[in-house]
Parts: sequence; structure tokens; C-alpha cells
Amino acid sequence: VEFVTLAATYSKVNLGQGFPDFPPPDFLKEAIVRAVGGQSQALHQYTRAFGHPPLVKVLAQFFGKLLGRDLDPMTNVMVTVGAYQALFCCFQAFVEEGDEVIIIEPFFDCYEPMVRMAGGTPVFVPLRLKAPEAGRLMSSADWGLDPAELASKFSERTKAIVLNSPNNPLGKVFGRRELEAVARLCVEHGALCFSDEVYEWLVYDGRQHLRVASLPGMWERTVTIGSSGKTFSVTGWKVGWAVGPDRLLRHLRTVHQNSVYHCATAAQEAVAQGFQRELELYGKPESYFMQLPRELQQKRDWLVQSLAAVGMKPIVPEGTYFLVADISEFKSDVPEDPSSDEPYDSRFAKWMVKNKGLAAIPLSAFFCDAHKSSYSHFLRFCFAKEEATLKAANDILQAWKREKSSP
Ligand code: PMP
Repeated sequence: VEFVTLAATYSKVNLGQGFPDFPPPDFLKEAIVRAVGGQSQALHQYTRAFGHPPLVKVLAQFFGKLLGRDLDPMTNVMVTVGAYQALFCCFQAFVEEGDEVIIIEPFFDCYEPMVRMAGGTPVFVPLRLKAPEAGRLMSSADWGLDPAELASKFSERTKAIVLNSPNNPLGKVFGRRELEAVARLCVEHGALCFSDEVYEWLVYDGRQHLRVASLPGMWERTVTIGSSGKTFSVTGWKVGWAVGPDRLLRHLRTVHQNSVYHCATAAQEAVAQGFQRELELYGKPESYFMQLPRELQQKRDWLVQSLAAVGMKPIVPEGTYFLVADISEFKSDVPEDPSSDEPYDSRFAKWMVKNKGLAAIPLSAFFCDAHKSSYSHFLRFCFAKEEATLKAANDILQAWKREKSSP
């Protein structure tokens, strides 16, 4: 919230908060115009509380195909107010006082307060950075889970683990071995898995996104969470969903029914039409789910080059629309302040937006308090931006570099 406000006040180029500044696909814009401007009065009124029937039906077909199982639209799918509310329902439904929830760091920032709000205790396990070979750019694949460290966090108090692949902020796409290690531990300890897969289509360089719910023993214990915001570049519509077995989703329905109850009907109708189109074009080059990652990979590569050229060492992401870069070489601009307990990257990001007009988010914001100081030399940039925005960011970085090198 603090950095979004600073960006609104000072930034000339905002690569901070994660949202596209390019338009959503025409077929989706046309679908929402039809939904609100058409003859059907019903689309202006309440629909089914747990999801507009056309949307849950197409989501069941789509995810049934991806997971290789028959899904019942009424019991295996629930529509939520963005992925955010699906997460909230999971924590409220399953986490009680005394329960522990394992969170892999760095993590999307709402997981920790949502666990605590439900009365649970978050238990953190960091991804560890292996030094890359000399001369090679860092990659999000250089951050890995140590299987022994992960295993040491599970106990009889573990209620669930939160998995986020592709991961915000690093862009790491978890590999089969890592997911199998998570799955083995969940089965062994009877733990649930809340799998936040909002960036499922945004994977690059031919990598594959693996769904943990498709691993042996995992369907019964996993809630898979998605978002039309990321899927169709419409973050403001706030249409998300949860997919899973009825034995879990029935409890999410109780929380949903007694909190928000319902999501906007017209937006659900338009997202249903978008999914219908994608179902028909599945795997074809015209599919938006194929086209969007192609375009974003190009944008990622531009931003990698811009940052590398000025000495902000980028960690090339395998997925998502975020990129983390090491700012150590820019330390002379914002000296360390031993008297401040604010993490260095947070002070740096504030200075950067105020003095250079470039907004980014400090990586320490994605770690728990105890670990923030160990990861305080990185910034997260969002590259889901128009070419002109990325070019403007490049101009700021180049001018900054020239200023630094002039005597
Ligand atoms: N999970 C992750 C990892 C995210 O990055 C976001 C959005 N930034 C969300 C969930 C929330 O998605 P939505 O906007 O659909 O609520």
C-alpha cells in the first residue's frame, strides 16, 4: 500500500505494482460489452452464489482437461472475488488456533496476515540462492528448495503448505522434483496444499507449468487457485476461482456464502466466454494463453537487457510478469544507514521513485520480518507493460548510468 501510494505520487514510470498497462484482448472486451449492453436483464442481477453457471461449467471442462479428471462444475469449482478471496476462503475455512501453515519465501505478501487472521502460525522456509556460474546471468531457477530444510518444517501441527508456482516475486517455476518433494511431505503429514497458480500461463523458454493437484495423492488435499486478472489481463475485474475436491470446497463455500456471497455477474459471464474461446483454441497459436506468454517473453528480455546494461543484475524469471534485480552496484547513490531499521532495498526504492521517477517494489517486502535483512539488495520490477513504458524505463536507467560515470 505504501509503495503503490508513492508510485502514484512520484513515478514517471511505474514498474511497481503487478498489472498490465496494455489492453485486454478484444474478444474479452467485446464479451463484457455484450454482457452489460445486451438484451439479457438477468446479467445485471444476482446469479448463483458459488459461481455463475456458464463460468463454473467451462472452468470445470477446462481444468478437467488439464488435470485429467472429470470435474463437477457445482462442487469442484467455486468463483471468487479474485484469487485473493479464494486464498482468504482457504485460510478461514481450514486454519484454526494452533495450526501451522508453511509458506515458501519469498512469498506474495498477503499469505502471512491471512494465516494470522485465521489464528494460525506461519512457518517460513526460504528458497536458497545457488551462486550462478561465472559470466552467466542469474536465473530464477538458481533459487531452490532444500528438501531437508523443507521436511524439517513439517510437524503434527502442520495444517497446510502454500505453494505459488510460478512464484511472485522471483518468477521461479517449480520443477517436478520439487513438487514431488512437497507432495510426499503433504501425504506423509496429512497436510493440505493451497496452490496459488495465478501465473499458470506465463511461463517462458518452452518451460511447462506443472499442477501439483495432478501428482499422486494430491487431488484430495489440494485447492488450486486461479485468476482471470492474470489469465486475461483484466486485474480490475477481480474474477478468480478455486478448483478442488468437494470435501474441501464445501468449506470454502461456507466462508464465501457468509462473507462476500456473490461476485459481479456480468464480469463472470464475460470470463466464461473468454474461457469458451480458449477451450476451442486450446494449444493453437491463436490461443490467448499461447500468445500472451510469447509477447511477455519479449518484454522480459527487453527489461533484462536494460537492467543488465546499467549494472542492475537481473535474475531472469522462468515465469510470471515480474523480474527481480540486484541493486548492489548502485549502493553509492543511497548509502547504508546503520541507525535505520528499515531494510536497505525499501529505502532505495523510495529514493529511486522520488529522485528518478522509477517505481519498483523492494524484495524484502516478500520475506517475514526475521529474514528481511538477509534479502535487502534486490528490487522487483513488473514487465507487463507497453513497449513505450519499458523504453521510458530504459531511458531513465541510461541517464542514471551516465550521471554515475561522469566525474
Ligand atoms: N496470488 C498471487 C501470487 C498474485 O501475484 C496475485 C496478484 N498480484 C494474487 C494472488 C491475487 O490475484 P487477484 O487479483 O485475482 O485477486
